[in-house]
Amino acid sequence: MVAVPFAPAGNDSRAELRKQIADLTRRFDAQRRSSAEIPDEVATIDRMRKRIAAQRIRLERLEHEVAALLADIGRHEEEIAGREKALALLLGTVVTRLERAHADAWSPVPVLGYRLWAMHEGALHGARTVWREAGFSATCAGDPADVPHSDGRCGRLGCGVYATKELAPLLQMHVTPESHSYVAAVVALSGKVVEHERGYRAQTARVVAAYAVWPDLVMASATPERIAALFRACDRLPSDWCELRFGHPDPLPGLTEYLTTRAEEETAWI
Ligand SMILES: [Zn+2]
Repeated sequence: MVAVPFAPAGNDSRAELRKQIADLTRRFDAQRRSSAEIPDEVATIDRMRKRIAAQRIRLERLEHEVAALLADIGRHEEEIAGREKALALLLGTVVTRLERAHADAWSPVPVLGYRLWAMHEGALHGARTVWREAGFSATCAGDPADVPHSDGRCGRLGCGVYATKELAPLLQMHVTPESHSYVAAVVALSGKVVEHERGYRAQTARVVAAYAVWPDLVMASATPERIAALFRACDRLPSDWCELRFGHPDPLPGLTEYLTTRAEEETAWI
C-alpha cells in the first residue's frame, strides 16, 4: 500500500496533487516493472504446474500399463494352473501304466485267484501261515508299509498273500486224486496286488468259495457263514453241510467244476 500524503485544497494544490499522483503512479509502475522476482516466480509456478500435469499423464499411462501387465500375469497364472492340472493327470496315467508294466498296482476291484490249505488238527495251514478265518491281510517283518513289496526288499519270494491265476496248475503241483484233508478255494484279492506270471501276491485275500476234501466227505460252499466255520474248525462242521464220498472217488473233477464256475460267476459282477 502506497500512503498518499495530505495535500492542501485549491487549484495549485490540485495541480500539485495530480503531480504527486502521477509521480506515485510512475514510481509504482517503475517499482512493478523493476520487480523481476514476481514474473519469475509466476513462470516457475506455471512450469511446475505443467510438469505435474505431464507427470500425472505419465503416471496414468503407467497405471494402465501395470493394469495390462497384471491382467497378463493373471492369464499366465490361469494357463499354468490348467497345464499343471493336465500334467498331473498325465503323470497319473503314466504312473498307472508304469505300475501295470511292473505288475504292481492297486486293484480297485477284487482280482480272483486260487489257493490251497492243508487240514491239520482242525486248522487250515497255508504254505506259510495258519488261517484262522476266511480272510487274511499280509504283513511284512521287514517293513509294514506298502505290503506286498515288489522291490525285493523282503527276499526273492516277497511278502503278501499268494494266489494262483489258474486252478489246474495249483492242483497238479500239490494234490493227487488220492489226496484228502485239504481245502481249495477261490479268493478275492484286494488292496495292493502284485501280479506275477502265474499268480498274484496281494495285501488282502478273502475266500469267496471253498471246496473241502476229507477222507470220507467233501463240502462245497460259497456261503460266508459255512466258509467261516470251515476256517474256524475244519474238523467240527455239521455233517449235513457235507457230502459223503462212497468209495473215495476222485474229488478233483467236482472240485474243479465247482470252483471255476464260482469264479466265473464272481467275475461276471466285476
Ligand atoms: Zn515285504
